Amino acid sequence: MQKNNLIGCDIEWLEDYISNIGADKRYAIKLLRWVYRKRIFDLGLINDIPRALLDEIAKNFDVGLFYPSEILAGNDGSVKYLYQNDKNMLFESVLMRAEKRNTLCVSSQSGCRMCCKFCMTGSIGFKGNLTSRDILNQLLAIPKSKEVNRIVIMGMGEPLDNSDEVLSAIRILTADWGCAFGKTNITLSSVGIIDELKRFLDAPPCNLAISLHSPFRDERSDLMPIEKSNPIKEVVNLIKNNPLPKPLRVSFEYVALSGVNLSSNHAMAIAEMLKGIPCHLNIIPWNSHESAKFKTPKDEELQLFIAQLNSLGVLTTIRKSMANEIGAACGQMAGRKKST
Ligand code: SF4
Repeated sequence: MQKNNLIGCDIEWLEDYISNIGADKRYAIKLLRWVYRKRIFDLGLINDIPRALLDEIAKNFDVGLFYPSEILAGNDGSVKYLYQNDKNMLFESVLMRAEKRNTLCVSSQSGCRMCCKFCMTGSIGFKGNLTSRDILNQLLAIPKSKEVNRIVIMGMGEPLDNSDEVLSAIRILTADWGCAFGKTNITLSSVGIIDELKRFLDAPPCNLAISLHSPFRDERSDLMPIEKSNPIKEVVNLIKNNPLPKPLRVSFEYVALSGVNLSSNHAMAIAEMLKGIPCHLNIIPWNSHESAKFKTPKDEELQLFIAQLNSLGVLTTIRKSMANEIGAACGQMAGRKKST
């Protein structure tokens, strides 16, 4: 008989299970805290739950942790982890370390079906959805797991194309019985799938980042095919009409492609589009890879664009590129083994 996994397990489900075997359901919280909070994955080390109950649980559950199959360290201190789940799907996450911030960028799918033209993940096609266990495992399986204080769901895949599993993982990440992350320390990044975004905005579980990349419909459709069925104008209107409750934040992501989307017309159209939304525009200079032929902007082109945006009242930040040499920068994740 195939066992269930504790990683990915929700409190209600485990409480029901424990009640059904005749034990006190309050042990469910204790057990999940050992796994999610204390990061103890050996049931033998648990000392506040009766041994007989733990033995019974062990008959039906594995902890479900799996370690990265490859680890690559970048020159800037960032680390890329490659995983292979039990369905043989490959996916990656990246740990980026700054002074006080240790940010883990996690994947929500193996590959992606959004086919954004500038993105390496899009170029490898879609291999499958990750489960909430696969998503949480990316945090729990790394050596410095407890030092991670920020999670961005911006790795491989479109999170809102796998909403059930992603929202379930966020619930566990933020629950008191789970990993107890603050909601403001997690950001979900999406191209803006309108129906799923409505569901997210009904009860926002974390910060939101929307991939803008161009304010013009034709150009955005060319860069991001999702524009054809889910126009950014509608996405932005939805956010205007359903603002995130404070202190949650919305931001917009903008990959800077030299000679493509950095003109003064772009700056003016972005300012017009984002008017009335308290947000900032996160600019990501394009990271080159073999699957696309764009150019990374030179400093002058980027600074001019930013000055235009700022003069129009758009707050901007530039996302520093990390770990380019290990293929871990934004848009470079391909879920490939180094040896293949
Ligand atoms: S940018 Fe994001 S949504 Fe677009 S193809 Fe890449 S992983 Fe998918």
